[in-house]
Amino acid sequence: MIYGGKAAALNTCRHHTSPVSRRHEDRLSYHRLQTSVAGRNQPSTTRQPGACLQEFFAHDLIVKYLESLGFQTRRSTWNLETSFEALYGDGGRQVVFCAEYDALPEIGHACGLNLIAYSSVGAFLGAAHPMATLGIHGCLRLLGTPAEEGLCGKAALIEAGAFNPPEDIAAAIYGTRHPRVADEVRLRDIWYRWLQGINALDDAVAAYSNISLLRQQMITGCKVNFQTSPSFMKMRANNTLCDAYVEDMASLCVSVVKDGETTPTSTDMGNVSYVVPSFHGGFAIPADATTTLHTPTFASAARTEAAHDSAIQAAKEMAMMAIRVLVDDNIAAATRADIEKDED
Ligand SMILES: [Zn+2]
Repeated sequence: MIYGGKAAALNTCRHHTSPVSRRHEDRLSYHRLQTSVAGRNQPSTTRQPGACLQEFFAHDLIVKYLESLGFQTRRSTWNLETSFEALYGDGGRQVVFCAEYDALPEIGHACGLNLIAYSSVGAFLGAAHPMATLGIHGCLRLLGTPAEEGLCGKAALIEAGAFNPPEDIAAAIYGTRHPRVADEVRLRDIWYRWLQGINALDDAVAAYSNISLLRQQMITGCKVNFQTSPSFMKMRANNTLCDAYVEDMASLCVSVVKDGETTPTSTDMGNVSYVVPSFHGGFAIPADATTTLHTPTFASAARTEAAHDSAIQAAKEMAMMAIRVLVDDNIAAATRADIEKDED
């Protein structure tokens, strides 16, 4: 680990003053990133840019952008060529924002991970701003987490030590997108009960059935190649972080659903939630009521200006949570206590 909560003071930003010094500049910066990200979404007939472990464009785009703002970065970290880190702060408690950016073969950002990257970068910038202007002690890390789709990239990052030592990390924060019809777009959800189902068993049953159907073809000489990857674990949302978020949003008169509907999907953020206190928020983007993840329709919805506006709003909320964790000793202690007592 190159830095930690109790490590000597770090001066991780080359410019001591904030790179995000005024609100309107924040907005301009967000739009600069948005313009670039939109370019990444254009279809290619020769290859699939940004697919699992091929996220070179996103890696370079985000790293160069952060470096242009004066942040210290590390490229190709933790044994993954398309992972990266950006750092800000001077030691103390550490908050990690997890950015995803891989696309799906053929249909691009049909899971909206472009928005996850966008909101995580925004949260990192948004939290760095008050840290710099108000002299808040702490350490922010933006961790680029590739290969979420299918290969459970965060498990590889955990294995490589990206979250070590876990006791130095007060919170890992992440926000993801989901389709919502326009009149409900202002709502925020916390996917608190996410992945209560036994997905691994379902996968095993499905695999057995499909292999059984393939037996006839195998007799004729066909081969089946298996690609193994770590299991996606269910999400253990940290109760203290969820409560803090609900409280903060209430102060802004924003309605938040905690402990709401179960969402039938998967995330490798669940693996992180067993290592460090983790928050998994959801933000809605405008979409037709029939829109579902992993479809061209969702890819279109994830490219819109309105979707990026929702991601920016989520970024501000995640930044707010990070600052709360950094300045509030009670919250930091409670997040740690939560993860130590939750053994399910
Ligand atoms: Zn997906």
